[in-house]
Amino acid sequence: MAVPQFHHLAGRVWVCPGDPDPEAVQAGVAVVADERGSVMIDAGQSPTHARAIQAALAAAGLPRPRWLVYTHHHWDHVWGACAWPGVEIVGHETAVPLLHAEAARPWSHHYLDERVRADPRLGPSFRARARAMDSWADFTILPPTRTFTDVDELSVGVGLRHVGGGHAPDSTVVLVPDSGVMLLGDCFYPPPAHLRRPDDGPDLDLVRRLLWDDYLWYVSSHAEPMTAEQARSAVEAA
Ligand SMILES: [Zn+2]
Repeated sequence: MAVPQFHHLAGRVWVCPGDPDPEAVQAGVAVVADERGSVMIDAGQSPTHARAIQAALAAAGLPRPRWLVYTHHHWDHVWGACAWPGVEIVGHETAVPLLHAEAARPWSHHYLDERVRADPRLGPSFRARARAMDSWADFTILPPTRTFTDVDELSVGVGLRHVGGGHAPDSTVVLVPDSGVMLLGDCFYPPPAHLRRPDDGPDLDLVRRLLWDDYLWYVSSHAEPMTAEQARSAVEAA
């Protein structure tokens, strides 16, 4: 695993990219640093990844988080949550039943193997989970405890807006207006491989609706941050 490291993006926002190897299925995370309590955006793909992110936070001298926001319920964004002590977990209301169902599954390396044998389309995701998880002891999947329907705003000036879409029903974008940064999670990506149909591609209409003039940076979870200009030309070129 590449050693996670935070880079300053703009204003209060720092980003910690995931492993660039697509087979690792490791989402990046971000933090909105605030002495009143930082906001962590996504949890890491495993408790081990979460602990490496905590070491990176300490190395960058960033305050520990008070809130953990889920951009959506997919494993590579939430499986690290049980390694974040004392945070309030914030997510869209539709993530709650989805994550209760995920939490009830008998996760183990044996279970992952069995499921891939039953449905080979789960292979890339489930093999990445097997590699990411070195132990299942004390592992739990945690649904959000603070939920919202359309929008929410944390007291440190961080906005949340539900966008949904084809990738995940609970996809949420995180707005940091004073820093000019919008964190997109995976919201415009196609559905996960095992649910994808041949003509599913990125949801460019969703991206167009999100390209508001007053945001300078757009950050998705599995790519380099884009400036507003780069995001606009990517949408226009498609
Ligand atoms: Zn996802």
